[in-house]
Amino acid sequence: MKIPITKPYMDACESDLIAEVIASGWVTQGPRVEEFERVFAEYVGAKHAIAMTSCTTGLHAALLAYDIGEGDEVIVPSMSFIASANVIRHANATPVFAEVDRRTFNLDPNVLEDAITPRTKAIMPVHQIGMPADLAAILEIARRRRLVVIEDAACATGSEILWNGVWERIGKPHGEIAAFSFHPRKLITTGEGGMLTTNDDQIAERHRRLRLHGMSVSDRARHGASKMVLEEYVEVAYNYRMTDMQGAMGLAQMEKLPTILAKRRELAANYSAALAGIEAYEPPYEPPYTRSNFQSYAVGLTTDAPISRNDLMDALLERGISTRRGIMTSHREPAYADARRDVKLPITERASDQTLLLPMYTQMTDAEQRYVIDALIELGTKS
Ligand SMILES: *Cc1c(COP(=O)(O)O)cnc(C)c1O
Repeated sequence: MKIPITKPYMDACESDLIAEVIASGWVTQGPRVEEFERVFAEYVGAKHAIAMTSCTTGLHAALLAYDIGEGDEVIVPSMSFIASANVIRHANATPVFAEVDRRTFNLDPNVLEDAITPRTKAIMPVHQIGMPADLAAILEIARRRRLVVIEDAACATGSEILWNGVWERIGKPHGEIAAFSFHPRKLITTGEGGMLTTNDDQIAERHRRLRLHGMSVSDRARHGASKMVLEEYVEVAYNYRMTDMQGAMGLAQMEKLPTILAKRRELAANYSAALAGIEAYEPPYEPPYTRSNFQSYAVGLTTDAPISRNDLMDALLERGISTRRGIMTSHREPAYADARRDVKLPITERASDQTLLLPMYTQMTDAEQRYVIDALIELGTKS
C-alpha cells in the first residue's frame, strides 16, 4: 500500500466552475472572488472577508494595515510554519519568539506578559494545525496591554472555539483580524490563495486597496462604470489579488468543507482510540474549549517509545506510509540564526522533535487507516 500524508479533495465541480470563468472572459479578481468572499465571511461569521494570493501575503498586509513596521516587535510562536515569522520580517518588524503549551502546541498565555516590551505592537497567535489557540486568555492580555491580535488561522478553516458558552468558528474573528490559507495542505484549497476576515470596515477597505496597488477604485468598478473613471494611487501597495479561477474553485471547495471536516474528525477519533492504550504514543490533546478541524494529526512519542521519531518515520516510509515531522521551529532554521541568540524554548524544541504528523485525507479508506494503525502499533510496541 502507498499512503500519502494528504491529498486535496476535488472533482468535476471545481473544473466545471473554472471552465465557466474561462468562458466568461474575466479571469482575475472578479465576480467569483467576490462571491467566495461573501460565502467565506458568512461561514466564519465575519463582516468582511478579503481574498489574497496566500495566507502569507494576507498576514503581511494585515501587519501593514495596523502600521506595524520598523522598530516594532510582534510576539509569535517559533513553533509554526516559517511564514508566521517571515511576514513579520517582511514588514520590517521583529519577531519575538514565545513558548508554547506542551500539549496544544499553541502560544502559552502564561509567558506572554514576560515577552511584552515597550516596543511590542502585536501578538500573532497561530491556531496550530487547526487547534484553536487560547484566545480568551491571549485577548485578555492584549486588551489590557493595548496590543493588536492578528490570528494566523492558516490551518483553521472550520475549527471552532467555545466563546462565552457558544461555539464560534475561528475567523469571526476574535482578535482584530484572521488570515487563512488555501494551500493544498490545508482543509480547502484554491491551489494557492488566502483570505483575511475582519469586522472593521476601514481595515477591510485598506486591505482591498493594499492588494490592488493602492488603487482608489477597483478594476470592476471602473469596468462597470458608464462614465470614465480616473483612478488614483493613494499609497505604495502590492499585487495580492486572487484570480477568478481560484475564486470559483474556492466556492466548489466550500461546498465540500462539511464533508472534509466530518471525515477528518472521524479519522482523528479513530487514530486516538487506537493509539490511546499504547505507552509509546501520546495522541493530540483537544482542550474543552476547542473543536479542531485536524488539519494535521500530530502524535507524540513518549519517553517509553522503543524507537526514535526519525527511525519510526523511516520504518513507516519503508511500509509505504508517508508521515511528516512535527511542526517545525523557526528559531532553529538558518534564516533565523541572528534571532536565535537569547532564545530558550525547550518545550517548543521537544514538542517539535518528538512528534510526527500522520496521513489523513478525505478519500482515506478504513483499510488504509487500519494499515497505518497496525504499523504504528507494531513499531511502537516493545518486542
Ligand atoms: C501554511 C501556513 C502558512 C502559509 O500559508 P500560505 O497560504 O501557503 O502562504 C502560514 N502560517 C501557517 C501556520 C501555515 O500552516
